[in-house]
Amino acid sequence: MQNPGLARPKLVVGIVVDQMRWDYLYRYYNRYGKDGFRRLMGEGFSCDNTLINYLPSFTAVGHTCVFTGSVPALSGISGNEWIEQLSGKMVYCTDDSTVSTVGADNASGKMSPRNLLVSTVTDELRMATNFQSKVVGVSLKDRASILPAGHAANAAFWLDDATGNFVTSTYYMQQLPAWVDAYNKTRPIEQLIKNGWTTLYPIDTYKNSDEDDQSYEGKYSGETRSVFPHAVGESYKKSKGVFRSTPFGNTLTLDFARQAVEGYRLGSGPATDFLTINCASTDYVGHMFGPNSIEVEDTYLRLDQDLGKLFIYLDSKLGKGQYTVFLTADHGAAHAIGYMQKHEIPADFWDSRPLVDSLNRILAAKYGAEKLIRSGLNYQLNFDLGKIDALKLDLGEIKKISIAWLERQPGINYAVDVAKIGEAPVPEPLKSMIINGYNYKRSGAVQIVLAAGWFEGYGKTGTTHGTWNPYDTHIPLLFMGWGIKAGHTNADVHMTDIAPTVAALLHIQMPNGAVGKPIREVMEAAGR
Ligand code: ZN
Repeated sequence: MQNPGLARPKLVVGIVVDQMRWDYLYRYYNRYGKDGFRRLMGEGFSCDNTLINYLPSFTAVGHTCVFTGSVPALSGISGNEWIEQLSGKMVYCTDDSTVSTVGADNASGKMSPRNLLVSTVTDELRMATNFQSKVVGVSLKDRASILPAGHAANAAFWLDDATGNFVTSTYYMQQLPAWVDAYNKTRPIEQLIKNGWTTLYPIDTYKNSDEDDQSYEGKYSGETRSVFPHAVGESYKKSKGVFRSTPFGNTLTLDFARQAVEGYRLGSGPATDFLTINCASTDYVGHMFGPNSIEVEDTYLRLDQDLGKLFIYLDSKLGKGQYTVFLTADHGAAHAIGYMQKHEIPADFWDSRPLVDSLNRILAAKYGAEKLIRSGLNYQLNFDLGKIDALKLDLGEIKKISIAWLERQPGINYAVDVAKIGEAPVPEPLKSMIINGYNYKRSGAVQIVLAAGWFEGYGKTGTTHGTWNPYDTHIPLLFMGWGIKAGHTNADVHMTDIAPTVAALLHIQMPNGAVGKPIREVMEAAGR
């Protein structure tokens, strides 16, 4: 009798919806169609209490954690950008001066995963199948394409605003595949944006959101009021980056993802392939308008339709149940501060810059040395360690003075010397999140934790993310398809569990910096 062999799905599709708060699954539930989020929730398995377990809750860190099961302390991706603590050099997470752009004559492709210090589940799949598996990453954002696809990816593509092209870097290839060139030549962005943005349904049906035209909503270039219909086609002519901040960015991403399935014949080879997708426009729209806006609701209703189309396409291409999908988010978002204040719920803006200036003046008066603190980047005090060493100053004392002063400032809940976190009166889960987020070489030595509702922001519109609070760290996590049960759990799950779960499902080694555990509930009993 022939050995039936090890069963695996034809393809794994890992979708990260940028800035998707967990509550959007339920807030808009009655407005979703049957093919998108509700199909994932009905046919698939929902981990309804999935939490990010590190700081800061920023994009690059989230994508890295989802695909590595690791935390900044080990993965090295400690922010979208960070300060190398010894040299003081500012580093963008995927910058790589040794490679060049493929697909445009500019620097948008001087990117690679080389700053990522651990393997991804996609790397592990490639190694487990002796590189017969193909791995492709797709996003508008370089970092959200590169970090999920890992070091050993066949390709990662992202959008270059200046040309409107999907591009890549010489890290992966010397020239764009013919299908990418052909796709770029169809000028898809111009088609998608030319008619502007009107709501999918009559605007008076958007009962889950604030009325249009709130003072805390941002405006597109050339707009005088922040209301529908948004003439984004006109704004795009003035500023190409506008496209990202429309729901059509997700439509483009998922359309390009389908092209990638065709172009690389994903799911049709001798081994399981892996496609990573980041829908980034949810993040740009969220930053601009805040979670309670009609713009955000409409973006999710449109994304729901676009996801439904992707699943129907994969059903017909690979067969229903022949592929595994998971969907999660890299972080959530706070409500807009203007919205919170309107409803008397505590929230306010915070700016690290004047605080760092004041502290530097206090330290200069004591030590006779200027600028001992470089910045408050990533809610951390980044000290000038070179100067402190050269002048033989006492770093422990400098931290102590800084912390004592910071803790008296409005909006700051704690300032913590991470080296002494064991002695700090900080409750869980915060303490673990601080430890997990702290990378010795890349994180500032003092972690600042703001009061709930507060965030660092310099404009007075829109919102952001980055803190420990549930609105930033409670994310959706859904699995569907091959090997997955239908159901849901409210048990505690962490973002670090996602990659080990996918590894367990595929019977491959978990990534080499993973600290999470497989979520057993999601998998069918007969997994092998
Ligand atoms: Zn993000």
